[in-house]
Amino acid sequence: MVGSKCTLAFGLALAGMVSAQADASQPANPPTREDYTPNSESAPAAPARPAPPSILAILAHPDDEITIAPVLARVAREGGQVTLIQATSGDVGPGTSSLEPGDELAALREKEGRCAAFALGIDEPIFWNLGDGELATLARAPESAAKQALALTAEAIEEAKPDVILTWGPDGGYGHADHRMISAVVTQVVGKLGPGRPELLYAAFPEGEGTLLPGFEEWGTTSEDLITDTIRYQAEDLDAAENAISCYETQFAPEVRAGLVGLLHESVWQGKIHFRLAFPAPR
Ligand SMILES: [Zn+2]
Repeated sequence: MVGSKCTLAFGLALAGMVSAQADASQPANPPTREDYTPNSESAPAAPARPAPPSILAILAHPDDEITIAPVLARVAREGGQVTLIQATSGDVGPGTSSLEPGDELAALREKEGRCAAFALGIDEPIFWNLGDGELATLARAPESAAKQALALTAEAIEEAKPDVILTWGPDGGYGHADHRMISAVVTQVVGKLGPGRPELLYAAFPEGEGTLLPGFEEWGTTSEDLITDTIRYQAEDLDAAENAISCYETQFAPEVRAGLVGLLHESVWQGKIHFRLAFPAPR
C-alpha cells in the first residue's frame, strides 16, 4: 500500500499491539447487501446459490491488496475469478528494507506480490509498471502515468469483463496520491460505461467509535450510512490473508507481518470487509 511513507503508519499501528488471534468463525453481523451465501456443509438443499462474482481489483502498489485480502481469498476459494492489477511496482518504496529505489526493488516487490497472490489463491497480479509515486504527477501531460492508467483501465475492464471492480476510495486509504489517482482513474472509466457496467466498490473503513487503530489516524473513513456492501470472510480466508502479508518482507517489519492482519480482523473488519458503491444502480 505503500510508497515509503505508509509502512511507517503500519509500523506505528502495530508497535506493541499485536495480540492473540481471534476466531474468524465467530458469528459476524449479517451482510447488508450483495453478499452471497458461503459454502456450508450443513445447509439444506435449497435454491441454487448465486455464482461468486468475477472481481477486478485495480490498486496502486504491491501490498495494497492486503486491505481487502480476505475478500479476494474468499471469492477465489468459492470459484470466482479474481484479477488483481497493481498500477506500479513500488519501485520507490523500500519500506523497512534498505534497498535503493529502482528496478531491483521493483522486481523484488513484484515477486512479493506474486507470493501474496499465491497465498490468496488468485492469479498472479498484473503489473502496469507505471512509476511509483508518479500516478498523480503532471496528470494532464500527454504521456502522463494517469493518462496511461486511463487507457490501461479501459482495456483491463474490456478483457476481464468483471461483475465487480474494487479500488481505493477517494481518500486513498491514508491519502497516498497514487491511491487517490488510481481511484479517480477507475471511477472515470467506469463512469463512462453504460448500463450493465460492472459495480464499482471503494474499499472503506467505516466511521465510528473503535474502528480506527492507533497509527491509522490518517486513514479516511466512510459514514456508516454510505457503506453499501459488507462482505464476510471465513477463518480460512483470514489465514490466507495472513500468509499473504507474510510475503511482504520489504514492506513490513516481522512483528507487523505477524500481527497486522489479525489486528485488522479484531478491530476494523470483525469478520467482514466494508465497501461503498460508487454509482447507483442504473435507472
Ligand atoms: Zn499503496
